[in-house]
Amino acid sequence: MTTTLDRTTADRSRVTANAVRNFIGGRWEQPAAAQTEPVYNPATGEVIAETPLSTAADVDRAVQAAARAYPAWSGTPVIQRIQILFRFKALLEEHFQELGAMVTLENGKGIGDATGEVRRGIEVVEFACGMPTLMMGETVRNVANGIDNLSYRFPLGVVAAIVPFNFPAMIPLWTLPIAIGAGNTYVLKPSERTPLSSQRIVELLMEAGLPQGVVNIVHGARDAVNGILEHPAVRAVSFVGSRPTAEHIYRTAAAHGKRVQALAGAKNSLIVMPDAVLGKTIDNIMSSAFGNAGERCLAGSVVVAVGSKADQLVEALRERARGLVVGPGSDPKSELTPLIRETHRKNVRQYVDLGEAEGAQVVLDGRTPPRPEGFYLGPTLLDRANGDMRVAREEIFGPVLSIVRAKTLDEAIAFTNGSPFGNACSIFTDSGAAARHFREHIQAGMLGINIGVAGPMAFFPFNGIKGSFFGDLHAMGKDGVRFFTENKVEAVRWFSRPEAAPSVDALTEAGA
Ligand code: NAD
Repeated sequence: MTTTLDRTTADRSRVTANAVRNFIGGRWEQPAAAQTEPVYNPATGEVIAETPLSTAADVDRAVQAAARAYPAWSGTPVIQRIQILFRFKALLEEHFQELGAMVTLENGKGIGDATGEVRRGIEVVEFACGMPTLMMGETVRNVANGIDNLSYRFPLGVVAAIVPFNFPAMIPLWTLPIAIGAGNTYVLKPSERTPLSSQRIVELLMEAGLPQGVVNIVHGARDAVNGILEHPAVRAVSFVGSRPTAEHIYRTAAAHGKRVQALAGAKNSLIVMPDAVLGKTIDNIMSSAFGNAGERCLAGSVVVAVGSKADQLVEALRERARGLVVGPGSDPKSELTPLIRETHRKNVRQYVDLGEAEGAQVVLDGRTPPRPEGFYLGPTLLDRANGDMRVAREEIFGPVLSIVRAKTLDEAIAFTNGSPFGNACSIFTDSGAAARHFREHIQAGMLGINIGVAGPMAFFPFNGIKGSFFGDLHAMGKDGVRFFTENKVEAVRWFSRPEAAPSVDALTEAGA
């Protein structure tokens, strides 16, 4: 078997779609691992690839390659590093549709959402192209007589990212361009369920001229992750995934002396006030709760209906949700696409059973798969849920929307703040005073005012709080730059040597 994927541009995506390989020191390699994990097309249920489950030894080789590349890369002037990012951005634009189709193929989401996530990822590359400004230090002159203070930002060394299945193109791009733009070298561990998009992205990065070893990919699951967490040469770990894994990553990486950012799960409320503009609010709730089949950390998972219009809201939600077009992501008309895997579909269905057993009213029941092939579920609405029910507290990550009723905005806020999570929360209202009260009192890190998916842009941090984030510096924005750099602060004094200093007469003669 060949160890290098050497092929023409024309057949690249086809070959990539069938071959999942580690990328170490600039070479695509078949890892030694005998075990593999199937990758499915969620729309059909067919196996489209096999992810090799790499071991700590594979991780070590990738980290060694990154460590070898580090001196030259970190020593390359930042202006030259960003030229590669500019070319990378152009290639991502050129292959925009192809990347979107690949995301749809392996993740199942609608093509609009898939190209949308590629767009969000490209915006991080654009942000990282500003690295000369982003890496600027600070100065204060004359902090004592004749002494100046300056700070400089330096890259850390070898850094790693471990990413989830639900945004296979965007989430690697939350960190990759910032990490390498700042001069680090990088090891990526994609989700074993969606390994293809990140391979294609890295191929394009190499086509843009990135030196070998600066970016490496190690595929796999738990063993590969633990290999990263325990590797002494990895300086920082960026993680995005579920809460239990995030806690494990945070603890283990910190115990091994690493800097960590661990972005975790969510249970986001959408608070609907009686003065909300109903039609547009329903549109937003539909796409928040059922877009990407609910497999988004920003998905609205609980509607909190405030005041007397709850019945009207529930009826409108039911009418709209029951009409959602269920179908494959490749069809632009599909509004509800499949879940990632059969095991996950089973979990989601069990949550609906649980909600019913807990006393919620199943006003729309999506448990019967609406299509025979693939991993589809229909939309489900669980009315009259409350904070004592697990369905209203735990992350389900599927097309299931619970509805909680609250008498006042403060009651809605108290319900939301009772959640262990704090990723996102939205309010729908026409009242500036209500929106301000919400912002002042809600415990969530990303807020939407009449917006169902409150995702920040590349120049802001992705800002979950409470149980949705473990660490200090978030991904993206200036936080992202700080996460992948460390400072040196310098105190400078120049002793005056009378014999070498220019005389006042000399300065005057020179016209100074
Ligand atoms: P996951 O935690 O199962 O997997 C994430 C990564 O961790 C994968 O690369 C996986 O291989 C690895 N992993 C899984 N179990 C592990 C273990 N026991 N030990 C070591 N590594 C392990 O998450 P997922 O199912 O891929 O993604 C969905 C989750 O991600 C949801 O909870 C969602 O809310 C969360 N998410 C959060 C954000 C955010 O920004 N906060 C963004 C996207 C997704």
